[in-house]
Amino acid sequence: MTSRRTLLTGAAAGTAALALAGRRARAAAPAPERRIGFALVGIGKLTQTQLIPALRATKIARLAALVSGHADKAKRVAAAEGVPERSIYSYETFDRLADNPDVDVVYVVLPNSMHAEYSIRAVRAGKHVYCEKPMAVTPAECDQMIAAARKAGRQLGVGYRLHFEPYNLELCRIARARELGALKFIAATAGTIPVEPKQWRLDKKLAGGGSMVDIGIYALQAVRYVTGEEPASVSARATVTDRVKFKDIDETLAFSMTFPSGVVASCVSTYAAHVSRVDVAADGGHFGLEPALYYHGIKGFRSDGKPFAFPDVDQFAAEMDDFAACVRDGKPTRVPGEEGLRDVRIIDALYRSAATGRDVKLT
Ligand code: NAD
Repeated sequence: MTSRRTLLTGAAAGTAALALAGRRARAAAPAPERRIGFALVGIGKLTQTQLIPALRATKIARLAALVSGHADKAKRVAAAEGVPERSIYSYETFDRLADNPDVDVVYVVLPNSMHAEYSIRAVRAGKHVYCEKPMAVTPAECDQMIAAARKAGRQLGVGYRLHFEPYNLELCRIARARELGALKFIAATAGTIPVEPKQWRLDKKLAGGGSMVDIGIYALQAVRYVTGEEPASVSARATVTDRVKFKDIDETLAFSMTFPSGVVASCVSTYAAHVSRVDVAADGGHFGLEPALYYHGIKGFRSDGKPFAFPDVDQFAAEMDDFAACVRDGKPTRVPGEEGLRDVRIIDALYRSAATGRDVKLT
């Protein structure tokens, strides 16, 4: 609830608030050494192509350390980004982050099945943790992460970048204000194509699941934050067209969710196509996003023809600056571990439904 409320508070405040926050952050940008220091764990694609560039654009966050199994790569990146060699760690020396005062936040950007272990080790080392989605591969792991963060008195955030993205915030605002009437039905699709045949995403042990944990989670998130409700029951069916590539993970999951208000969502998660659309049907018209979840180029539509357009933002810079502000000011993040747990629980129920062919009740 906390996270959805905060998402909506942000939405209600609208772009004016975003612009104001941006101006304030610029005006108050601290000296580099006073910024909240992030250690990035794993120097893979997301880290290299999004997070490191974003940390050059952040206002109060900075790159302070790197953790990698590849010493050469870590040294090269550290040199390019001005990270001192003493702030490079391997997975074996990871726990020594405890002794590095430059690091406030450990950002876990590893294969999904490694999220729990490194998040728990990081909070035990006295650091706040920001963990990529999905938060972990089982609800039990999420519970352990939340408990460890609580015990250590550290914040635990999940990398739900769309909670900081203006189009998605506006989607929530339109829904909450009932600008097009009461919500009736939502269709959400999220898909991508994993090209590289030997990657961890295709290995159930490392990924924890298939398209649903990786990309379908965005369709699930969208439905949850648009309705502001938790599903009462879910139903899922899995299909596969490439049995070699997707031998033990879901390629496509068609799923539906019913909500206490009577709203129904029909969703598709897939590794077979690049799709990303949220279409909300209300009793006075439609509104939605397509593409809905990309890093750039999100577009909004509404059937009453009113404008639905915002400037592009760096979603990763926005989420890291927000988490840095939460850590600095001791205020709760809008994307806490509890929010990550809710999704992992629902995904677990979806997989059970797909395996048994039966609806799963959640309330
Ligand atoms: P990647 O494969 O490009 O990088 C993974 C990193 O983990 C690499 O540096 C790799 O060396 C390291 N690693 C350590 N142990 C490993 C092992 N046993 N097997 C494989 N790699 C290992 O993956 P990525 O695309 O950067 O994804 C990393 C995380 O970020 C995932 O949890 C993913 O869901 C998430 N992600 C989020 C977004 C988003 O939009 N928020 C986008 C992409 C990925």
